[in-house]
Amino acid sequence: MIVLSLNAGSSSLKYKRIDTRDHTVLDVGAIERIGAPGAPATHDEAFALIPELDHVDAAGHRVVHGGSEFSASVLIDDAVEARIEALIPLAPLHNPVNLAVIRAGRRRLPHVPHVAVFDTAFHTGVSAAAYTYGLPFELADRWKIRRYGFHGTSHRYVASRFPGRRKLITLHLGNGCSAAAILDGHSVDTTMGMTPLEGLMMGTRPGDLDPGVLLRLMDWEGFDTAALDRILNRESGLLGLSGLSNDMRELEAQAAAGHPRAELAISVFCHRIRRAIGSLYAVLNGADVLAFTGGIGENSPEIRSRVCLEMDALGIVLDADANAGVRGREARISPPGAPTEVWVMPTNEELLVALDAARVAHHKVSGQVRDNPSERSPAGGR
Ligand code: AMP
Repeated sequence: MIVLSLNAGSSSLKYKRIDTRDHTVLDVGAIERIGAPGAPATHDEAFALIPELDHVDAAGHRVVHGGSEFSASVLIDDAVEARIEALIPLAPLHNPVNLAVIRAGRRRLPHVPHVAVFDTAFHTGVSAAAYTYGLPFELADRWKIRRYGFHGTSHRYVASRFPGRRKLITLHLGNGCSAAAILDGHSVDTTMGMTPLEGLMMGTRPGDLDPGVLLRLMDWEGFDTAALDRILNRESGLLGLSGLSNDMRELEAQAAAGHPRAELAISVFCHRIRRAIGSLYAVLNGADVLAFTGGIGENSPEIRSRVCLEMDALGIVLDADANAGVRGREARISPPGAPTEVWVMPTNEELLVALDAARVAHHKVSGQVRDNPSERSPAGGR
């Protein structure tokens, strides 16, 4: 099947056309600066610029927030569209854009099945103990305040590369960062929460932060929601701490040249990851595999070695030579026989979106969608 795999950002539309029989990428591209002068005005106009739309059998849409209802990828119909729209309050920046592309796609490719693949879906099976915040129950219930987790497509793809391994800790370290604990192929805990702000420190987001800091800032600086949103989503993390950049390559170069705040940003980044590994290790009661993925996880031997330093009590040891040589390719970087295998595993979210779309579309065609429990949706809130 030829699947168009779509990933919409607020001003961009990335696409890959993939042959799911042999995973060949037929086309790859991005339409950028949507809404800016001289560029497409809307995601609908951007969609029309994707080449070879006549040669597509199904479309897969990455959707950021599926709430607690969508535990698997689903065929999009009007009802699914309406449910994605109803989830906008939980993802005000992302779900509207995802919806715009879904609507454009269904209008411009009306005869092919469209499938939604949710970033939250992989984490819908985590226990109430793991997803509940210690807030007044009725208040949280009214607003659906709970931890959902994100990057599910990436964590699930990486987990799929270790069949038969029971306990995995996966580290998605890119511009956004999260870690997940995976038991027998299912996510049992993850670091992101109701929004993608919780957990690890990221390129421009602070990660875990005492909520009291926000209360004080509202008093001291008179910040409103918009100001806090800007600080927490765009001005914090590696960028805010270093004052230089959110690009880890730049920070590594500056830290090596003696820039103290570049070094501070990297050390906080790594410390937070080490804490997350420790807590997920405790949740799993061990780990057979620790896997690094995302732009930083795949390409930075330096960050990997700083994260894994002096973790031998957890069975985590690196082979320094093996680690040093690995950039952007799959490799084991722990010595043979180490209790926890440490791996670099490049993620491939577009491929997983395409494979899900092909599978769900195929079941639709052959009428089997209700026969496979993993395809059933929605699976009810948990
Ligand atoms: P992603 O969001 O997965 O595309 O990852 C983006 C992040 O990966 C940015 O912080 C980049 O600086 C980082 N990155 C990409 N290549 C390298 C590299 N060779 N060394 C360190 N960081 C890298």
